[in-house]
Amino acid sequence: MGSPEVTTAPDWQSMHITVAGLGVSGISAARALAGLGASVTVVDGGSSEAHRERAASLEGQGISVRLGDAETLPEGTDLVVTSPGWKPASPLFEAAAEAGVDVVGDVEIAWRLRGPDAAPWLAITGTNGKTTTTQMLASILAAAGLRTAAVGNIGTPIVDVVQEGDDAYDVLAVELSSYQLHWAPSLRAHSAAVLNLAPDHLDWHGSMEAYAADKGRIYEGNRVACVYNMADKATEDLVRGADVEEGCRAVGFTLGTPGPSQLGVVEGILVDRAFVEDRHKQAQELAEIADVQPPAPHNIANALAAAALARAFGVPATAVRDGLRAFKPDAHRIQHVADVDRVAYIDDSKATNTHAAEASLAAYESIVWIAGGLAKGATFDGLVAKSAKRLRGVVLFGADRALIREALARHAPEVPVVDLDRTDTGAMLAAVREAARLSEPGDTVLLAPACASMDMFTNYNKRGDAFAEAVRELGAVDG
Ligand code: ADP
Repeated sequence: MGSPEVTTAPDWQSMHITVAGLGVSGISAARALAGLGASVTVVDGGSSEAHRERAASLEGQGISVRLGDAETLPEGTDLVVTSPGWKPASPLFEAAAEAGVDVVGDVEIAWRLRGPDAAPWLAITGTNGKTTTTQMLASILAAAGLRTAAVGNIGTPIVDVVQEGDDAYDVLAVELSSYQLHWAPSLRAHSAAVLNLAPDHLDWHGSMEAYAADKGRIYEGNRVACVYNMADKATEDLVRGADVEEGCRAVGFTLGTPGPSQLGVVEGILVDRAFVEDRHKQAQELAEIADVQPPAPHNIANALAAAALARAFGVPATAVRDGLRAFKPDAHRIQHVADVDRVAYIDDSKATNTHAAEASLAAYESIVWIAGGLAKGATFDGLVAKSAKRLRGVVLFGADRALIREALARHAPEVPVVDLDRTDTGAMLAAVREAARLSEPGDTVLLAPACASMDMFTNYNKRGDAFAEAVRELGAVDG
């Protein structure tokens, strides 16, 4: 069941478009659409000084801005373009539905703006690992000498990139959030990957089924390959449910030995048994595990997914290796901060949900775990039960720490737990000191909070910075 493909270029000049949200993607969409001759109104519920400044800049370019009312649909609207954060149940969209007006996102606009010879999209989604995998993919494509960029949910707004023209890029590595997929009905990628699927953002989507269905849209109309995670059956189910082009293949990735039409790992080597001449007899060596940074199991899985998409696009094996070697992960994603007294301190502040923290904890043998923050409705029993045997000790802080403490009492009663009973920013220094006290040489102190950071920090970056700062202080004292 596919959505109808948009085959004719829309006549932008005759359109009245309402853009919801005066953020980065809203501004970029508004400018692009106004540039095409559409008459554009941006609406936003805010009316702060910052809002007014942005509004003034847009108004200078002939774009109308309505501040302080995000709910009513401007008279005469033909199309609503939404920003990712807006929930489907927002009153503006209900008003649009009543008026029979379509609502789409910035990715859909970018897709509709592409010319006939535009660069194909290799698309990536998943609950965790999207940014890392998209950047790995872009690095591999660049190593193959292709003109490419990592876009979508990262970097330059995708509308801006598409507007550079059809011949600016050979291929794009596109990270897509479930929100963006929800609002991009006619997107048709060359090939796409769903890395994994765990409950997240359910308040936005309404249910796990709705969340999965939005993620699954990434496979709709794929031409060459639908890449899925063999360790996560839900991703395979999404491939099965997708309506793809004739000849498009399902390609699995696994940390185990790959079968035909799969990529996997054999004796420390990343191996391709999908994009080879005879997949029943042949296997192509791509890279070594040591070429992947950091070499944690979930990150090897990310590398395999990136490699699968690159190979689907025809990239040679050597470029996969070179691209992986050249890739440097963004900060706060399993980042090695320092060794102090033969204990490694690792910052995975980006592990803001239990699924990410579980992957992180699985990467080390003996861990003092620093966790806590805002749970966003999550439960911790599964995570704690799976990780219990690796825990030397646990240090907890943050608003919802009691949920983790209770799960530890149920599934790991023998593990020592320090509950700092604090939600102030300075708690990080105390946490690192407690973790150092609990640790023994050879251990890893791992910040993988499994929670959002906003109860104590501005964002996960600041939380990771505070951890690194505390580790440095510790090193200075001990060293
Ligand atoms: P996203 O863009 O989806 O948020 P990132 O690449 O920024 O993903 O990684 C976010 C966090 O998710 C990392 O810090 C790590 O803890 C975790 N993570 C990364 N890849 C995976 C994966 N394949 N499976 C589970 N967790 C992962």
